Amino acid sequence: MIIGIPKEIKNHEYRVGMTPASVRELIGHGHSVYVEHNAGIGIGFTDEDYTDTGAVVLATAAEVFAKAEMIVKVKEPQAVERAMLREGQILFTYLHLAPDLPQTEDLIKSKAVCIAYETVTDNKGGLPLLAPMSEVAGRMSIQAGARALEKSCGGRGVLLGGVPGVAPAKVVVIGGGMVGTNAAQMAVGLGADVSVLDRNVDVLRRINAQFNGAVKAIYSTAAALEQEVLAADLVIGGVLVPGAAAPKLITAEHIKRMKPGSAIVDVAIDQGGCVETSRATTHADPTYIVDEVVHYCVANMPGAVPRTSTFALNNATLPFIIRLANKGYKLALTEDKHLLAGLNVYHGKVTNQSVAEALGFAYVAPELA
Ligand code: NAD
Repeated sequence: MIIGIPKEIKNHEYRVGMTPASVRELIGHGHSVYVEHNAGIGIGFTDEDYTDTGAVVLATAAEVFAKAEMIVKVKEPQAVERAMLREGQILFTYLHLAPDLPQTEDLIKSKAVCIAYETVTDNKGGLPLLAPMSEVAGRMSIQAGARALEKSCGGRGVLLGGVPGVAPAKVVVIGGGMVGTNAAQMAVGLGADVSVLDRNVDVLRRINAQFNGAVKAIYSTAAALEQEVLAADLVIGGVLVPGAAAPKLITAEHIKRMKPGSAIVDVAIDQGGCVETSRATTHADPTYIVDEVVHYCVANMPGAVPRTSTFALNNATLPFIIRLANKGYKLALTEDKHLLAGLNVYHGKVTNQSVAEALGFAYVAPELA
């Protein structure tokens, strides 16, 4: 198969659909790969890194889209990219269609085979192509929070780990899933005093076992949450209720009563945030202060570490890319119900139930025979 990797064009997006090492794997399977000039330059992959693997570098996105049978990207295609898609061409990338009518309409019009990373599933009921970004955001939340606690950022001027003779900071992580577990791991590593709250007892059991008691695993009642949050130096918001907006677990009233100079990193901001006073911010201006509490609410945290994020994402996407390339989309989708769950728009029809419901389209089961 001919695979194309265009350069990402969304504002401040430096990730790339495939690393040179992944490209080498595909070429090893007998496929051809076309990469747009400077597609990976933002994270240190030169054109030569790609040509060394046997890929061909093309000057423009238009040439890549024209040649490729499958386009592999990171972000949802922008309008100019959507105009270059054609019938039967595979598009494999994050799409996030439910809130995006113009994109969905264009993908329908293109008659392309549009597979969204974020709805591919696994045997454990997870979303394996979203998980790497939660790992990155969870780990990053502690370094963002540590910075927010510095005096120059409006924080109370405490070091997460303390020093010998000085108590460490208290870090409270709400939600013990992918984000929360990774945040807890970083905070424990820095020597902070860490609690994780969750409503799922199995999650609490796992946290307890994983950290060998070094993290307090607390059942998340309103009372427990209030007690922990009011005593915290740093709060990490990592809750998720699948398919719903994040619950506002921390109210404006809590914020007023938190320690002056404490900080909140609301990772769940991409689902609306779990803090009443949260509003989305950007990497250019990541924090703001409400009632002396520093808020960090960047909706695309992995964007700050695009090199790590590209490798993490590509490790998860590569097996699916190889299967699509080796088998063609019909066989690959028929054989793998988890990849099929990623199929959002197929030959002009919406084939994902939630997207169809959200945007008022008829849901159509894909005909792959
Ligand atoms: P996850 O499903 O792995 O974990 C969520 C956890 O929240 C679950 O363990 C669940 O039991 C718990 N939870 C639900 N309601 C709760 C409540 N009332 N009290 C305490 N815990 C509760 O999800 P995840 O992958 O860790 O993602 C968490 C959030 O982070 C999501 O909203 C996700 O979209 C977001 N996220 C944001 C960024 C970013 O850049 N800002 C990046 C990645 C993920």
